[in-house]
Amino acid sequence: MSNAGDFADDRPRMGVDFGGTRIKFASVIGGKIDRLVVLDTPKNNSAALLRSIADGVKAFQAQPVSVGVAIPGEVDEDGICWRLPNVTGFEGVPISRELEKLLGCPVRIENDGTSAALAESKFGYGLQFQDFLVVTLGTGVGGGLVLGGQARRGHLGFAAEIGHILIDRSATAWLCHCGKTGCIESYASTRALLRYYSEAGGSANSVEELARAARDGDAEATESFRRAGKALGMGLCSAQHLLDLDALIFTGGISAAFDLMTDSVREGLRARAFAPPLSELPLLVSELGPHAGVIGAAWLPSHFEGPRS
Ligand SMILES: [Zn+2]
Repeated sequence: MSNAGDFADDRPRMGVDFGGTRIKFASVIGGKIDRLVVLDTPKNNSAALLRSIADGVKAFQAQPVSVGVAIPGEVDEDGICWRLPNVTGFEGVPISRELEKLLGCPVRIENDGTSAALAESKFGYGLQFQDFLVVTLGTGVGGGLVLGGQARRGHLGFAAEIGHILIDRSATAWLCHCGKTGCIESYASTRALLRYYSEAGGSANSVEELARAARDGDAEATESFRRAGKALGMGLCSAQHLLDLDALIFTGGISAAFDLMTDSVREGLRARAFAPPLSELPLLVSELGPHAGVIGAAWLPSHFEGPRS
């Protein structure tokens, strides 16, 4: 891992955030987006999808020096995909090598949570904190880990898969997207928030709608955020017991309504903390906005070792 002392330079870098519904392409200078193009993710096989990504990059830079790609899944150190649950057909695909062939330059792939954590470490709250988790709240619950000021991918690339920390081992624990039951994600994702509300007799189609109801004084909507926040806080306390962090940074779609959850996340942390100070760390919403993943992606080749292949 490089020491990355050159994060202030002004060379445009190419980042791609490859999601299940959209692909973002961005030219990034320092911590700012210089130019951004967002495309719908084509419904196609992996080879055709990788060609679409390469074509998108070439539309920005005919001969890129290096490219970083964030994915909602994990790859090993050689850029071979372990899992990419939202886009079929990628398991076992050597994504880095295939894109390097198409683009003629080094390509670094990382998990989108790790990419967002890299951006946060260099251009966000990393300027204040050294050891923190970036917690992504949305359709899923994910994250990225920063220790000693450096974004960490872990041994296999799965660091900070915090959505799947167990918080309910009862026989009636809710099912998670991952196929297991009782994960944080089952109790603190978009689906969980809408489920709490619907079980209390309410009806909302999105977190935005639920947040509006809560702000308009709907007690059941408020309670839905409280339940999600409490579950999240209890789960994150396990991360805190392991790592003794100095902040938790929240991002993702639900983070726009994080003010409706802050007290209950704290309540969950306090309910489980081994010692009182562990639950009192700052709970902050990332100021990098929805583009942290693509900004971090652009810096992946500089931060992690490469090139390979
Ligand atoms: Zn899970």
